[in-house]
Amino acid sequence: MGRDAKEKVVYASPNFVLVAHFRALLESEGIPCRLRNEFLAGAAGELPPTECWPEICVEPRWEAQALAVIDAARRGATDAPPWTCPGCGERLEGQFGACWQCGKERPGG
Ligand SMILES: [Zn+2]
Repeated sequence: MGRDAKEKVVYASPNFVLVAHFRALLESEGIPCRLRNEFLAGAAGELPPTECWPEICVEPRWEAQALAVIDAARRGATDAPPWTCPGCGERLEGQFGACWQCGKERPGG
């Protein structure tokens, strides 16, 4: 009950470099987020147990967009140019494989 249940974990990994990378990516997209367990993982000489992995947390209203950013980035599309959604006209960064607004896939991909 005393826990902050409002936050959603959108990414967790024993690789702190990756976690920091995705956090910076989210912030560059204007998505407020914070890290949990960063110090625990940094002190470990081996892979920490899952519950101690560094985690990226966001407020629930940012969850879908944050997951879309991370999912697109993990598919390695970060070099793609920005594009405009043909469905709703939303301007999207290159790492998005689909519009986070209306779900339409990037054309010509
Ligand atoms: Zn769209």
